[in-house]
Amino acid sequence: MTDVKKYLLVAIPVPIREAFIYLPKHSLLDCTIGSRVSVPFGNRELTGVVIGHTEENSIDSSKLRAIHQVLDNQALLSADLLSLCRWTSDYYCHPIGEVIFSTLPPLLRTNTALPAERTWLLTTEGKGLPSSALARSPKQQEIVNYLLENAALDDETVTASTFSKSALQTLKEKGLIYRAEKKAVASKAVNQLLNETPLHLTGEQHAAIEKVRHHEFGTYLLHGITGSGKTEIYLQLVARALQSGCQALVLIPEIGLSPQTVTRFRKRFAVTIVEMHSEVSAAQRAKNWLAAKHGHAQIVIGTRLSIFSDLHKPGIIIVDEEHDSSYKQQDGFRYSARDCAIYRARQHNIPVILGSATPSFESLNNAATGRYHHLILKRRAGTTPPAEIEMVDLRGQALTSGLSEQSLSAIKAVTEKGGQALVFLNRKGFASSQMCHSCGWVSTCSHCSASMTVHSRPKRLHCHQCDRRQTLPTLCPNCGSNDIDVHGVGTEQLEDSLVNALPGVPVVRIDRDSTRNKSTLKSKLAMVETGESCVLIGTQMLAKGHHFPKLNLVVIVDADQGFLNPDFRALEKIGQLLIQVAGRAGREGAVGKVLVQSHRPDHPMLELLVRKGYFALAKALMQQRHNSALPPYWHCVLIRAESKRRENAEDLLKLFAHCYREHFAYSAETQLVGPLPSPMEKINDRFRFQLMIKSSERKQLKYVLEKLISAADQNSLSKRVRWSIDIDPAET
Ligand code: ADP
Ligand code: ZN
Ligand code: ZN
Repeated sequence: MTDVKKYLLVAIPVPIREAFIYLPKHSLLDCTIGSRVSVPFGNRELTGVVIGHTEENSIDSSKLRAIHQVLDNQALLSADLLSLCRWTSDYYCHPIGEVIFSTLPPLLRTNTALPAERTWLLTTEGKGLPSSALARSPKQQEIVNYLLENAALDDETVTASTFSKSALQTLKEKGLIYRAEKKAVASKAVNQLLNETPLHLTGEQHAAIEKVRHHEFGTYLLHGITGSGKTEIYLQLVARALQSGCQALVLIPEIGLSPQTVTRFRKRFAVTIVEMHSEVSAAQRAKNWLAAKHGHAQIVIGTRLSIFSDLHKPGIIIVDEEHDSSYKQQDGFRYSARDCAIYRARQHNIPVILGSATPSFESLNNAATGRYHHLILKRRAGTTPPAEIEMVDLRGQALTSGLSEQSLSAIKAVTEKGGQALVFLNRKGFASSQMCHSCGWVSTCSHCSASMTVHSRPKRLHCHQCDRRQTLPTLCPNCGSNDIDVHGVGTEQLEDSLVNALPGVPVVRIDRDSTRNKSTLKSKLAMVETGESCVLIGTQMLAKGHHFPKLNLVVIVDADQGFLNPDFRALEKIGQLLIQVAGRAGREGAVGKVLVQSHRPDHPMLELLVRKGYFALAKALMQQRHNSALPPYWHCVLIRAESKRRENAEDLLKLFAHCYREHFAYSAETQLVGPLPSPMEKINDRFRFQLMIKSSERKQLKYVLEKLISAADQNSLSKRVRWSIDIDPAET
């Protein structure tokens, strides 16, 4: 008999906040929670995920439709993963269907059947085979020997090895081996886990590791200067988790320049490590995801999206460079992988390690209030002393493509001695704009409120906001004068200048333009790693995690970039960036020097950073945040709206502001800022506005949002304007 009293809650990838109610095809029992189903939706057929069974139904039963088909016999998403999705959907105010479907590997979002993971095992007879039994069939003997040592032989190993397929078949026919579903990997002895001997820990490293309690929830802020050996701590903590049969999840900010982290894990561990990031092919990503889910992989390393990996038995989560803003997704489902990591660790009752030389203020505050354990490493693990930082006052100086005489001669001196120098400039292209000296014309994009960047290879103007390109004018388009010039040095100009100034020295430019081709990036990095004398020119891309063993000098061309940024996090980010870039110098024995060029060398915050370090800067800036009721002390949400019609975007936010005032005007716990034009007011002909709501109480903020969302639901403007809610925004 069919059970019609109960309903299915199905999450579907559409921008509607609630899950949908469907009838089961036969019985509710066939529709396991967490499995995929195909459902009729309007006149389409969509794939959804069953997220619950329910008795309640507010919809007219005659309008309910039944699902078409159950796609998985067993849950694809575990109860834990579903609860993570539900929590993030609620916390970030994002529709549950979009949460689930944007975090699943693309192949698993469709109705394709899951590949069965099968493996070869020895039968009892095979296990008891006398050692000489197969002497005349060496190919069969080879396979049996492998299985005696490794217990299971995966199809992947067969493909990657010289094992004979026909020998496998013969052994099967003889009843010596059989096929079976792959099982989760069991715990291993420590000597089977490692490929290499771990380093002998320094006192600080040892003390930090001792504080981390396994099989118990705890958030640990591992706050250690660059080179203090945080990676070694990760490796040893992961080893401890693996020993007890658990898996480890390691998050890294960006894959492009972090292959070194993956390499170090692969070098250390003789276990299955899978990667999870956008550069992994779709087929492989689905495979890796399932390998993590079924426990076939012991270590998962990936970028922010890997926080949504289903794990068979997690034992530890590591978030490297926890301050990095790439952990926050900036569009669509705007989640913070770091914050989700803490939720997951609590869910599984395991430790989570947040590592950084320059922790976010949120984490520092949590450590200060005792919510996180603060593990501090003050000394470098190797013998290399930390790099020395020196300010270079640019005022009144003649500059060569943005470089002072002092910086240029320091670069020359280093390369003459066969060393390497990194020149850091966070501005790609040749120059930030073109300008007319006669009439003041500036190369601005006619579709954005941004200037068009001058590029020299190929020669053109390029808007980095909307991607429009234009030919580079030789005469002023406004007054016809030929007195036009460029303004604001970019990496291409710096490259030209350094090639001229340093004949014979290789100049390697690494920015998004020069490394669109992945193999170009790899070969450039490989060249730098050989230690050959050269000058590297790098943007933000290079500030992250990458180690250049032979780097003796770092020049930061423009430390003032960003002082004018209205974002309340601007100074925090400058501080992190300078320290991270400086951390690239002086590894492996070479004494490093960092030259910080600035027109405001006496800026109190810059001075504090250079003289006293990041922690001192953080403390001072955090005091300011406290006084201005900003994060990490107050919580904040940003509502953004954009529209081709300027007044539509602004009016929707005015509606929100009005609704806010109606309910919360006299609340001392909340504040409203805006609506204001966004820092980049127009992009691609769309006008952008934003409204910030702050509160000392998270609950209160949630309450405000509920009111605003229901106001939006009742106003048709909200359907005509693109708008979004950003909880804990990384950029404001
Ligand atoms: P971090 O991640 O904190 O910047 P790393 O883990 O990369 O630092 O370590 C910096 C250098 O110190 C590496 O070359 C590493 O091999 C070395 N190192 C780390 N721990 C030790 C140790 N206990 N003994 C000797 N060298 C170490
Ligand atoms: Zn002009
Ligand atoms: Zn543009």
